[in-house]
Amino acid sequence: MKTPFQHCSACGSAALESCSEREFICTLCHFRHFITPIPAAVALILDASGRILITRRGHEPGLGLLGMPGGVIEGRETGEEACSRETLEEVGLHIPAKDFRYFRSLPNHYPFQGFVWPTLDLFYLAKIESFDGVMIDQSEVAESLLLSLNEVPLADFAFASNAEAVSLLKDSMNQGSTTFI
Ligand SMILES: [Zn+2]
Repeated sequence: MKTPFQHCSACGSAALESCSEREFICTLCHFRHFITPIPAAVALILDASGRILITRRGHEPGLGLLGMPGGVIEGRETGEEACSRETLEEVGLHIPAKDFRYFRSLPNHYPFQGFVWPTLDLFYLAKIESFDGVMIDQSEVAESLLLSLNEVPLADFAFASNAEAVSLLKDSMNQGSTTFI
């Protein structure tokens, strides 16, 4: 079974045995290693005219494909705080954590260091007046796109969770159920 654990992190032995898809135990010292979903936050940011901020990824995985500001949630951080930090880092917009509202969670997978890790993407919504002031960090983002929800090319996203979140957002706005927008 494919595992990110080549050696026991407690005793260094290579005698790891899989108990399930998510659990690997050292047969020498019985230290247990787990693969659990990594929480990530993704920002769905709309302006007053209903356009959404989409990014073109500037690095692997998914170089050249579409995404939105976001990333792995750090220790002692809320999902809202992670959205605020990642949005500032990637596209230069200051949106306070309190302005993000939880929208949906969707499972995802992220290839990293030779292993495809399960993640749980937490999507948060924010509405701002305009996208004036967007300044991309070119080490992370190749370009920013401002699109109406109907114009977003869902097949061009690097991750299916992002496409599904945009699609769900479009549905909920059409139904008028996203009341805080
Ligand atoms: Zn061990």
